Amino acid sequence: MLVFSSPFFIVIAGLLGLVFGSFVNVVIARFPTMMERQWRQECRLSFPDANIDPPDDTRFDLSLPASHCPHCHASIAWYDNIPLISWLALKGRCRHCQSPISKRYPLIELTGALLCMLPAWLIPFPGWAIAIMGASLTLLALTVIDWETLLLPDQITFPLLWAGIGLALINISPVSLADSVMGAMVGYLSLWSLFWAFKLITGKEGMGYGDFNAFCGIGCLGGLASFTAVNFDRLNQWCRGRGVMASLSAARHATRLCLWPFHCRCRLA
Ligand SMILES: [Zn+2]
Repeated sequence: MLVFSSPFFIVIAGLLGLVFGSFVNVVIARFPTMMERQWRQECRLSFPDANIDPPDDTRFDLSLPASHCPHCHASIAWYDNIPLISWLALKGRCRHCQSPISKRYPLIELTGALLCMLPAWLIPFPGWAIAIMGASLTLLALTVIDWETLLLPDQITFPLLWAGIGLALINISPVSLADSVMGAMVGYLSLWSLFWAFKLITGKEGMGYGDFNAFCGIGCLGGLASFTAVNFDRLNQWCRGRGVMASLSAARHATRLCLWPFHCRCRLA
């Protein structure tokens, strides 16, 4: 019999976390390009006089083209695509051209494993533990995509919101439906208010609407306690983290503050 929080279940969760972490790698690598192609196509259709070049018409989504080396374009066989193990066996290099394979891939896979093992260990309710694993992997994908591109896709943030409401509705979540809705409202409005205060004072936009949606999703999943945890229990830690983030963003983006990764890190801490 499968017992939650048992060593067996934690190991199974870790192995599944490696596999889902590998999928998170695919989402991180491909989703921004998929969005860019879609925007280009929409702009082209909306403004035909602007002569915008059409996007590349070769199929590009989460399943195609098949995994390949970005340097020599050789297809990656299944045995070279096993999470973590293949990277270690190949010593971080392409089998065909010996070009280095980014350490980011095994690191995301390991993080995925950790994010699945922790709920398996700490949460004794199977449904909620699995929901938190899914939410954690989603936040991992959002964090890295935001870090690299400053994008927080609606297609990835909105499912957090719907999952939060749905899980509260069918009593899998420990959060009541009323608390979930309140959490969503406070999550969205807190960053919306910060956005407008910053814009009115400085005339600049400090974050994007995707930040509101992501915070809304977190509030919906965790209820109002999501924000008391951030605002009180971990206030000092959060402020230090945001200070580091502000410095990095100032160097890289001049006027834009990319707040999301640190919200996310605080929620996962
Ligand atoms: Zn290669």
